[in-house]
Amino acid sequence: MSALIEGRDGAWEYAIGLEVHAQVASAAKLFSGAPTAFGAEPNTQVSLVDAAMPGMLPVINRVCVEQAVRTGLGFGGAIARHSVFDRKNYFYPDLPQGYQISQYSDPVVVGGTVEIPGRTVQITRLHLEQDAGKSVHDRDPDRTLIDLNRAGVALMEIVSEPDLRSPEEAADFLTRLRALLRWLGTCDGNMQEGSLRCDANVSVRRPGAELGTRTEIKNLNSIRFLREAIEYEGRRQVEVIESGGEVVQETRLFDPDRGETRAMRTKEDAHDYRYFPDPDLLPLELDEAFIEAVRASMPELPESRRRRFVGELGLSDYDAALLTAERARADYFEAAAAGRDAKQAANWVAGELLGRLNREGLEIEAAPIPAAGLGELIDLIADGTLSGRMGREVFEAMWETGGPAAVIVEERGLKQISDTGALEGLVDELLAREADKAAEYRAGRTKLLGFFVGQVMKATGGKANPKLVNALLRARLEE
Ligand code: ADP
Ligand code: MG
Repeated sequence: MSALIEGRDGAWEYAIGLEVHAQVASAAKLFSGAPTAFGAEPNTQVSLVDAAMPGMLPVINRVCVEQAVRTGLGFGGAIARHSVFDRKNYFYPDLPQGYQISQYSDPVVVGGTVEIPGRTVQITRLHLEQDAGKSVHDRDPDRTLIDLNRAGVALMEIVSEPDLRSPEEAADFLTRLRALLRWLGTCDGNMQEGSLRCDANVSVRRPGAELGTRTEIKNLNSIRFLREAIEYEGRRQVEVIESGGEVVQETRLFDPDRGETRAMRTKEDAHDYRYFPDPDLLPLELDEAFIEAVRASMPELPESRRRRFVGELGLSDYDAALLTAERARADYFEAAAAGRDAKQAANWVAGELLGRLNREGLEIEAAPIPAAGLGELIDLIADGTLSGRMGREVFEAMWETGGPAAVIVEERGLKQISDTGALEGLVDELLAREADKAAEYRAGRTKLLGFFVGQVMKATGGKANPKLVNALLRARLEE
């Protein structure tokens, strides 16, 4: 993976910092009791506070603060005991207050890290702020309409240091951060619905030089667009510099149809937001007990779980990473593995189950085989009732019927033949019938073992225990 951009006379390096807007998973808005559900009819989830009626006062939603703290603890940030809500003043039709309530100088979380392959990315801060409403341009041919359902919904803005060095690293970072938010249950991470959006700050420099001038690409709503926008923007900046120009610090928009970014506004018309502490809100004071209660309510984090899967359960790095990419996956695996051979369970979950889910485009929550049911299937293989091949057949039947493994085995007469006496008889018959081949084997053509095994399997309709057949044949042929 090349992180560098080839210029006319040498390579350039990216420096990328992301500003991620994550909608807080909460039934109510940041400062009002109005609901936050996605997809409601326009303007049906708007309280008098959200509509900025005169005299209305914001009241902080405790759940949103807990979610921000939970998220901060999740990436190892410092939780501020004292933070402040400011007014960020600007005029926009879908912002009826005339200002956005946001945290500016004193955010609720400072610092933290997110691990991506090959790099530890520093988080600068996380702050809470209100979302704006939405301008609707396609409902009326002559007018723009305003939908305030989203106005006042709580967002966490999570800002990274400019530590990312390639479009792939930016994509990895957003993927990991999204997985963490979903793991913690603090944001549903749905980028199509806009629950997670991202601004990318991009600059280029000669490797190791000072940071260059950056541009900011606004509102990227998919990981693919993030990657494509950064890729394009890096090349564009290199061309500007190499043809004697200078990168202008500006805000740009990505056009996914053309795969290009274009200027939206420059620094010259930068806003003066006149930030000041919102006089309607007291500073947010969090005591140790509140922070500890949130900490105590947190699930085991993905990184710790991943390490435990490798260290205690003996899984490969690959399987452990795969099985901890989503909390529901890790939960499923642990339930299926409880009291069993963890590697076997990992093979079934990471291989058969995830493969099938992938092919059908299903989430693990929708798997027709419950974790305990998969565990029972694994037991039937472990105790020799089923061969691996039969196990896969039973798995398919469980997927289709939802029935338990034992019932399917019974109904289909799928029991493996592990009766030594019966198999010995078959082996002896076979070796008598194929005396020539047996002689060849004994003379050194040991590859013929496969042929003999195949014959026994065929004679039993595939039900013979292949391990046992192997052992019996070898014993007879080598005695
Ligand atoms: P602002 O508050 O004006 O948006 P910040 O300094 O807070 O500016 O930075 C916002 C984002 O821009 C952060 O993610 C940061 O990492 C990133 N950033 C800052 N400088 C650069 C640069 N030279 N190149 C790339 N990204 C940068
Ligand atoms: Mg910014």
